[in-house]
Amino acid sequence: MKTKPAERTQDSTPDPITWTCSKCKVRATRMPGFGTGQPPGWTVEEGVVSCLLCRRAAAGERGVEAGEPTTGESMVRMRMASVIEFELERNADRSNSVIAKVCHTSVPTVLKTRNRLGLAAAPAPQARSRSKS
Ligand SMILES: [Zn+2]
Repeated sequence: MKTKPAERTQDSTPDPITWTCSKCKVRATRMPGFGTGQPPGWTVEEGVVSCLLCRRAAAGERGVEAGEPTTGESMVRMRMASVIEFELERNADRSNSVIAKVCHTSVPTVLKTRNRLGLAAAPAPQARSRSKS
């Protein structure tokens, strides 16, 4: 079985392979041969590097600030809704269960937010060849 792509010899320009979040200082390092550039979900805005976790947290805080919650429970709900919105805006093609997992919430909660935003359901996963002969 040979399934390994042989693309390592193409271009070995040393792009930055180690990224450090400006806020939480978490570091992401790319292994040689596994691409270059900023890690998926990270941003660089005005020189500030933000990891995905910090971006999610910031999205939650923005939701709480905008919602002006009156109870702790409503604050938690608003924060979660904002984080789910952030994830749906990032990529709405992911399934509700994937988004629920990254947001640490339930599928119905994701579905509710998706419907509120008027986003179509995620496309059904491609049926892989079932015959394994
Ligand atoms: Zn961070």
